[in-house]
Amino acid sequence: MKTVTILGATGSVGSSTLDLIEREPERFEVVALTANCDVDKLAAAAIRTRARLAAVADERCLDGLRDRLAGTGIEARAGADAVCDAARMGADWTMAAIVGTAGLKPVMAALQAGGTVALANKESLVSAGDVVMAASRARGTTLLPVDSEHNAVFQCLEDGAPDRVARIILTASGGPFRTLSLDEMKAITPAQAVKHPNWSMGAKISVDSASMMNKGLELIEAFHLFPVSADQLDVIVHPQSVIHSMVEYVDGSVLAQLGAPDMRIPIAHALAWPDRMKTPCERLNLARIARLDFEAPDYERFPCLALARAALKAGGARPAILNAANEVAVAAFLAGKVGFLEIAAIVADTLSRYDPPAPETLDAVLAVDAEARRVAIERVKDCVA
Ligand code: NAD
Ligand code: MG
Repeated sequence: MKTVTILGATGSVGSSTLDLIEREPERFEVVALTANCDVDKLAAAAIRTRARLAAVADERCLDGLRDRLAGTGIEARAGADAVCDAARMGADWTMAAIVGTAGLKPVMAALQAGGTVALANKESLVSAGDVVMAASRARGTTLLPVDSEHNAVFQCLEDGAPDRVARIILTASGGPFRTLSLDEMKAITPAQAVKHPNWSMGAKISVDSASMMNKGLELIEAFHLFPVSADQLDVIVHPQSVIHSMVEYVDGSVLAQLGAPDMRIPIAHALAWPDRMKTPCERLNLARIARLDFEAPDYERFPCLALARAALKAGGARPAILNAANEVAVAAFLAGKVGFLEIAAIVADTLSRYDPPAPETLDAVLAVDAEARRVAIERVKDCVA
């Protein structure tokens, strides 16, 4: 029996994780489930899985959660601290699937509690990679990458020799606007941006995929997870999303991990690791797919990718600023306040207006994140005015 906690249980990754563990109730026991405020979905999942605790981050949602859990014996709590406490309850395995920097403190709490942490929340590694990796090392926690590309790299590295890696090649679908001109991208609506051609995901990461900021964040994520320099990280556009990423060794061998584009595959890998488990996912039918295409990424039409690469090279506070400004810009885009192309402009301007020294502690990262958000919000106001 493996005890499991899911942070962000009501989201896309959280729901996929629940789907897998509910198929094997004799193998997994749920400790805690958390969400921001979706009390209907959270309470239903907690009742189905007989969780010990259900926690919402937003305190205004506590009454609703209590109502739905009345008489079940499941504890209901609310607030950011309650989410961190849920992460500290000592589950053998914790899925970190909160979206954005809101997931950083809960990730740190889970790492400090020990056990295995399956990391979907890439933003925590982008803004606080050094701090997060140091916490994982200090406590001896196993950190398993869930992001499909990083999970693929992890699988290609497992039996290889990490010090013999020449290059890590992250594949990118190119998103829904892969073939559009910059001019055509001006009029993109939020509804178009959240419709990913291959993957079904939350709104924020879908917009990130459309702008290719997602691949930029993933470069920074890979830099922290794997023993390579920034120059050894490459991106190749591969529209079918069948190859999830590749590792090239010094002898010229390239290992790839393939599969249907279904997040339950990398989640299952992390859930069962070092074992494997069955999933109901579609099997790869290469004869039907017939061909796999590749093209170089276009840094001009997708400036977010260039901004992220530059932030990775510069290091220090730059990735945290990039990430915070992007969260503000994507929220403004989804709210209809700014255009799609303004996302990159807001991120670029925030980076040029704010250049603090490298943050070395969690509190320092959070301070950089807060100030970068303030600067980005000012910049959004310029767009709206
Ligand atoms: P989502 O928007 O579908 O779900 C986000 C979850 O976080 C929800 O449970 C929500 O209630 C919770 N949440 C939101 N704000 C919160 C807050 N302030 N405090 C606490 N909880 C909060 O997002 P998703 O698509 O599942 O993505 C989750 C994370 O996984 C992101 O970091 C994303 O980049 C990463 N990821 C997702 C996918 C995917 O296929 N969806 C793939 C790779 C990586
Ligand atoms: Mg990914």
